[in-house]
Amino acid sequence: MADAAHFDVAIIGAGIAGTALAASLNGNGLAIALVEAAPLAAAELPTACTLSNFDSRVSALTPRSRQQLQTLGAWQAIADYRQCAYRHMTVWDAEGTGQIDFDCAEVNAPLLGHIVENRAIVSALAGQVSAAADITLFNPARLESCAMQQAVATQLTLEGGATLQADLLVAADGALSRVREMTGFDTREWDYGHRAIVATVEVEYPHQDTAWQRFLPSGPLAMLPLPGDGQRHYCSIVWSLQDSLVDELLDLEDAEFCAELQRAIEGRLGRIVASSPRFAFPLRQRHAVDYVKPGIALVGDAAHTIHPLAGQGINLGLQDVAVLAQEVLAGHERGISPGQLELLRRYQRRRKGENLLMMAAMDGFKRLFEQQALPLRWLRNVGMRGVNQMGPLKQQLMRHAMGLD
Ligand SMILES: Cc1cc2nc3c(=O)[nH]c(=O)nc-3n(C[C@H](O)[C@H](O)[C@H](O)COP(=O)(O)OP(=O)(O)OC[C@H]3O[C@@H](n4cnc5c(N)ncnc54)[C@H](O)[C@@H]3O)c2cc1C
Repeated sequence: MADAAHFDVAIIGAGIAGTALAASLNGNGLAIALVEAAPLAAAELPTACTLSNFDSRVSALTPRSRQQLQTLGAWQAIADYRQCAYRHMTVWDAEGTGQIDFDCAEVNAPLLGHIVENRAIVSALAGQVSAAADITLFNPARLESCAMQQAVATQLTLEGGATLQADLLVAADGALSRVREMTGFDTREWDYGHRAIVATVEVEYPHQDTAWQRFLPSGPLAMLPLPGDGQRHYCSIVWSLQDSLVDELLDLEDAEFCAELQRAIEGRLGRIVASSPRFAFPLRQRHAVDYVKPGIALVGDAAHTIHPLAGQGINLGLQDVAVLAQEVLAGHERGISPGQLELLRRYQRRRKGENLLMMAAMDGFKRLFEQQALPLRWLRNVGMRGVNQMGPLKQQLMRHAMGLD
């Protein structure tokens, strides 16, 4: 059998985290393998702003994530395609009068973030990695197995039998990471008992560059602004609901679903005119106990999944990528193997605490807004109104959510 090709770093999964990591490492003399099971996003994305033409998976990117994509040379392709900057955010409680309004002017920023279709992010990053001299793309190719070789390098076998070796194996293969499972990482996880319905909807009134979020007793509902064509206005919805309520909503006729959604968002954007097909994603909080072992690192959803209510999942994943790339490249300059445990532990130390903090905060929010007890409802309404009037605290919250602190 021919010797397995040797790479300094093999990244499994070319979603947002995997492609961003490959692009971050490129150009520094490291040999990088990027392995992706699904065909990478088509270069030609549909341009007409019509209901059926939007990706129903979108991400609210923080200014910090946008800056990172810009540094990687991927932002321009996204901007040339389409995205929607949002400048305001309105969050309110279904059970009372509590409301918080965030406006970019409060933190002297031109915007709070950008809503971007996931396939547009992957496509822009794929454009960078497929042109990169240091990156060998295995696509479509599925990792079938991996075996550690006495802390020398990991031997990887792809479906079909091709083999490779890597000093550092990176799991960027998503929430149900096979790499994490095959290499024996433990996770702490719990089911939220929620699924999220995602879809694109056409709304009657302009969305005012605002991300709208209403906390209902059954779970949070977000309507995120999308680009329109001047005549028609579109939003992407992420409607998290108790599991038992989801199938009924998915089964409704479009007109009935739109009416339910309009009620749930209190008609803030007028009539919900139409909806694209709807999909539901199970929501589970999952956090790997360790992110690293000798020769292996987890990034993005392979390391952590978080409730989408604050749209932080891939923003945290992109920060993992930035820190891991920094540590690997700093080590490479000093002749240290990218798989060295000490180097990888520095990555873990720098990322785990921050991810944990954000996950705990999202969990707390979700639980607080589920409470029906009168004192708690009163407290959270008073709390929301209080934060809304408290300039410095509100600014601090905003800067943190924008990735600026
Ligand atoms: C409803 C919902 C709304 C969300 N909204 C937001 C938001 O507004 N903002 C935000 O920041 N985050 C959001 N998130 C989270 C965000 O979508 C994820 O954090 C992000 O997509 C994870 O990216 P990733 O690259 O880590 O993993 P993935 O996107 O899951 O990519 C993993 C890749 O690995 C590949 N793969 C898997 N197994 C193998 C294998 N064996 N061999 C080869 N390839 C393999 C897969 O094909 C896939 O391409 C949301 C999540 C949900 C569910």
